[in-house]
Amino acid sequence: MVTLLSGGTGTPKLLRGADAVFPPAETTVVANTGDDVELGGHLVCPDLDTVLFLGGDVLDLDTWWGIADDPTTTHDELRALADDAGLASGPRYLPDERQTAGRDIADWRRFSGVAEFMLIGDRDRAVHITRTSLLDEGATLTEVTRTLADAFDLPWDLLPMSDDPVASIVHTPDGPMHFQEFWVANDGEPAVEDVEFRGASTATATDAVLTALSEPVVIGPSNPVTSIGPLIAVEGIEPALRETPVVAVSPFVEDEVFSGPAAKLMDAVGYDPSTAGVAEAYPFADAFVLDDADGTDLDRPVVRTDTTLDTPDDAERVARAVEEALEVVA
Ligand code: GDP
Repeated sequence: MVTLLSGGTGTPKLLRGADAVFPPAETTVVANTGDDVELGGHLVCPDLDTVLFLGGDVLDLDTWWGIADDPTTTHDELRALADDAGLASGPRYLPDERQTAGRDIADWRRFSGVAEFMLIGDRDRAVHITRTSLLDEGATLTEVTRTLADAFDLPWDLLPMSDDPVASIVHTPDGPMHFQEFWVANDGEPAVEDVEFRGASTATATDAVLTALSEPVVIGPSNPVTSIGPLIAVEGIEPALRETPVVAVSPFVEDEVFSGPAAKLMDAVGYDPSTAGVAEAYPFADAFVLDDADGTDLDRPVVRTDTTLDTPDDAERVARAVEEALEVVA
């Protein structure tokens, strides 16, 4: 058995081709939910959804989010309506007092659906409506995720990191904003002063997550701040990681990041934006998989390979390096 921790890009890329190394029936994926938002009343869980759509063979592999060839009729109409009505586009937060006056799971990340600032496809939206409706019927996010995983015939077990709300809030000189406002609406451009995981101090890991973390853990190449940071901040997760063998794949080649805002966010929270900084952010990791071209000298065992993850063959190669590293530390 093996458990992979996942954001929305790196671990999914590793999963796409790792079947020969990590048999899907023996694999659990625990996904970050700090990026989630409630948009127009529907809970959108980007990292869970990427894994769901990957496992269901419908993921848009150009973007690594959303369903391939998904029509956007409803989204386009929402934009057009807002335009005709003279309503400003961009993220429209519900008023402060309403941020914690709805479904608990949506606390501090509640956006109006007017002018929908995130692109949601029509089929994608059906998932969000189903998820939210099942939550409203009384299911937990863990239960709803399993129901959706069954619907998509997911080969792995998929778990949200917690059934409690954790909202990744980026603090900028112009004030705090949810990670999705920072990344989707502002292209990651605002200066970052700090990153907060609101709700994490009272969020707990589910029994399902704790059971999964009693197995060896793999952290695919991920943004250590906004993909793995929320997980570590949830009560129970970091102590569990300290007790089990953990192998992490670097999302950097020395100080060159493959993609995304990891470097900027790491810098903001006090880590060197590099493989060395990733190792510092993961004191519980027992070994690392680094790129052949990454000469970083770490205080823990390292297995090197080409860590580019463009194809399923790449994923299998990196997964074999992970397996080798696990053998060293397990
Ligand atoms: P997010 O949820 O979309 O922010 O994505 P993740 O946190 O799951 O993954 C983002 C990280 O994956 C970034 O820091 C990238 O540097 C890294 N990444 C993307 N593509 C590759 C790749 O091909 N190889 C490796 N090693 N890392 C990658």
